[in-house]
Amino acid sequence: MKYLLIFFLVFNSLQALGQLNIIPQPVKAEIKQGNFIIKENTGISISGEELRPSLNFIQEYLKKFYGFSLKEQSGNTEGIQLILHSKNKGAESYTINSGNNRFIIEAGDAAGIFYGIQTLIQLLPPKKSSTLTIPLVTIEDYPRFKYRGLHLDVSRHFFPVDFIKKYIDYLALHKMNSFHWHLTDDQGWRIEIKKYPKLTSVGAYRNGTITGRFPGTGNDNIRHGGFYTQDEIKEVVAYAADRYIQIIPEIEMPGHASAALASYPQLGCTGGPYEVQQTFGVFEDVFCAGNELVFEFLQNVIDEIIPLFPSKYIHIGGDECPKTRWKQCPRCQKRIKDNSLKDEYELQSYFIQRMEKYINNKGKTIIGWDEILEGGLAPNAVVMSWRGEEGGITAAKSGHYAIMTPTSHVYLDYSQTRNEDSLTIGGYITTEKTYSYEPVPEQLTEAESKYILGAQGNVWTEYIKNPAKVEYQIFPRATALSEVLWSKKEDRNWESFKNRLMVQFDRYKLWNASFSLAIFDLKDEIIPNKDSTGLLWKLEKPVNEGRILFKRGNGNFIPYTMPVELKESDSLTATLEINGSPSTLLKRTFHIHKASGKKLYLSSPPSPYYTGKNGAYGLVDGILSEKGRSSDEWLGWYGMDVRILIDLGRQSEISSVIAHLLGMESDHIYFPDFMEVEFSDDGKNFTAGGKTSEVDVQSFHMGLMGISFSPIATRYIRISFKNPGIIPADKPGAGNKSWLFIDEILIE
Ligand SMILES: [Zn+2]
Repeated sequence: MKYLLIFFLVFNSLQALGQLNIIPQPVKAEIKQGNFIIKENTGISISGEELRPSLNFIQEYLKKFYGFSLKEQSGNTEGIQLILHSKNKGAESYTINSGNNRFIIEAGDAAGIFYGIQTLIQLLPPKKSSTLTIPLVTIEDYPRFKYRGLHLDVSRHFFPVDFIKKYIDYLALHKMNSFHWHLTDDQGWRIEIKKYPKLTSVGAYRNGTITGRFPGTGNDNIRHGGFYTQDEIKEVVAYAADRYIQIIPEIEMPGHASAALASYPQLGCTGGPYEVQQTFGVFEDVFCAGNELVFEFLQNVIDEIIPLFPSKYIHIGGDECPKTRWKQCPRCQKRIKDNSLKDEYELQSYFIQRMEKYINNKGKTIIGWDEILEGGLAPNAVVMSWRGEEGGITAAKSGHYAIMTPTSHVYLDYSQTRNEDSLTIGGYITTEKTYSYEPVPEQLTEAESKYILGAQGNVWTEYIKNPAKVEYQIFPRATALSEVLWSKKEDRNWESFKNRLMVQFDRYKLWNASFSLAIFDLKDEIIPNKDSTGLLWKLEKPVNEGRILFKRGNGNFIPYTMPVELKESDSLTATLEINGSPSTLLKRTFHIHKASGKKLYLSSPPSPYYTGKNGAYGLVDGILSEKGRSSDEWLGWYGMDVRILIDLGRQSEISSVIAHLLGMESDHIYFPDFMEVEFSDDGKNFTAGGKTSEVDVQSFHMGLMGISFSPIATRYIRISFKNPGIIPADKPGAGNKSWLFIDEILIE
């Protein structure tokens, strides 16, 4: 947000090249000679009253952003004509034909007309003006996926009705049709349930929120909360319906239930007391699966939810439900026994299937996070695959529908720039990464791939406290996702999208919406020099325009012409200069040591999920993560030891070996039990060099583990790390394997 705004490709120059700047890219679009002019009192007509929402939408858009309205007229003579036509087939499809004095949108259904209106909006110049000139076009268009969605978590932080409507408009403007409203969680219950007033009088408020990233550095002690009345919900649902958007409410069960338990403690296994949580993560207190009162409660809640939301789907969560309480609860254990269930996972399955049956009987289908696959999938459930794609693949292969929302590509709460500019939950997903997402996994046959309904961007709000930050997190990644979901797979092209995005940046400004300019971040690579005796810093422009500048320390920027040689530890900064102004800054602090750029070998490759930015070589690339987990430097090994062999190339004198490690227990990442160092001159016969289990813990859950010794001459150094193995019962992630994370081995 602090970036200097630079726009070097202007709308008119692009159109002069005969390029249309429509996002998402239409199936077929042709630009013709001539223009169509839209100004005050340009006529608009509809072929029937069912098209009024489309007419209202364009009228409100023009009024709000350009300051004028169209004149509604009847008959098809001139101006903008919206026509339902039986010749148009295919749900949500439309065609546009324009001439000097007419602009005709035709479709077989009202939603198609609405998407034609969105395309018209994309053709408008993104600068306020009283006369809007748009090129003449012929367009034929329809969506690739049926389900095109965005999610918003209003529990971790509450967002008012006005912003929810704005968010729905953002979906509409991107031809998306599903809004997943995450209404209940540990940190707040956000929907009025008349039968249980304490859900909102107690459950909608917490007495503080942690400061900093979980587990936090303190508490702000500020009461936070809010909820939507049923009248407000109806108003929002109607608003969305006018934009052809279904709202899918999420009522979390059996986990993420703290706010409900704080309101009605008898619904938990222990009876409480419970509180609306002030911190984040996963909590052990969940709905008791052995108590009939819980099912009665949830069924009554569902009975009030169903009439409010016309969508055929109800999301019931089902994720991150620890089994600790159920294991100790006599009622839960009795339920397991009475129903001949194998364990607590089957008890979770019993819980979900029982609720599914109830919801199915009311004519609705459930959606659940991919954990609902554990212990047997409910028969008609739709799976939302978030922990990678496996959930979606398993669902599709067993004939269940799936919606893809993997953390790898579409978690829009993750950082989108390496130089994180404000606190986020961590992770690192660039706009290009989101754009590269393919919702249909390769492993599926053509028949199976029909079960992939589409995909959705998720916006969890632990670290998103206000509307501007929501916008900043979703733009431009939601815009990239809209093209993934709407446009034909073979038409997707990052270079083309990037060019069209320049105009969309101006449109965000027109909307007065916040957005990230991280796509101007320079790309860099640290490579060994040609004889592996040192490091080079190679920089690459993300766009064609501009030139790269760099500086050492506090020096002056100078033009970059070739990879920069790194001879000693130093901080370097690079930027992309466009039209004489620098854009985003790329800062790197290099730690140059005796192993920098040297050859190395791993006993086993890291997990494909954590390969580090530079692969194995990243362990000697001179870069140490400065912000913990959010860095892409880490190499991670799951449940296994690792041994690293470094070849210094020739005998060299050394006196210390230090590893830079991550120990973030909440994410199941643990420091190694110990590290052991050995030396060799031939790479075959080794002598012991020392062993340590001490960690010097530093900021962001990082730490240094290492040994010092009297100077010794050696060519090879072998370092072994002992993975702590299965996580013990009293630690986060108990029962799972430990991750081992390393990003640099420093040798002096
Ligand atoms: Zn229980």
